[in-house]
Amino acid sequence: MKALGIYKQKVYTGDVYKSGLKKGQPKFRTELRYDGVRDLLDWAIQLNAYRMLLERAGFKVSRMYVQAICRDSGLRIAQERGITKPVYIISVNKISDHWLNRYFQHKAKILREAIESKTLPPVCSFRERWGNRKCLGYCGACEHCPYAQSLLKEATDDERLSA
Ligand code: SF4
Repeated sequence: MKALGIYKQKVYTGDVYKSGLKKGQPKFRTELRYDGVRDLLDWAIQLNAYRMLLERAGFKVSRMYVQAICRDSGLRIAQERGITKPVYIISVNKISDHWLNRYFQHKAKILREAIESKTLPPVCSFRERWGNRKCLGYCGACEHCPYAQSLLKEATDDERLSA
């Protein structure tokens, strides 16, 4: 949904609640919009890194695409998010080689320093960890990452308190 620039927007229906706790308050419905900023920086960095390697090896790269396979596209939850097709071909823009080189040099430097000093590298940025969603369900390193472990502990404590 995010990679396609789809987002939800509340739209005033022109009506108000006639009764209940919200009596007199305006009614809204949620509509999908398809003109949002496409959120695919991680994919763009990965594909552009491959592009640089291919170009270094003498191949010309004119276009880049991600083929996104949506296994749950038939489910209602996917449809509610505007995902109606099982496959999307999503174009990826070129990122400048200068930016990519600086990014990877920085990543390599903090990794080298971490290995040499036998300490963990700094916590990933808010963007890199998808506002913590990656740490809580998608990162392959989460078992060994103190930041993810503290988030999981917080979530478990909250669950216990609300039980
Ligand atoms: S679990 Fe740790 S390594 Fe993984 S994204 Fe979160 S902060 Fe980064």
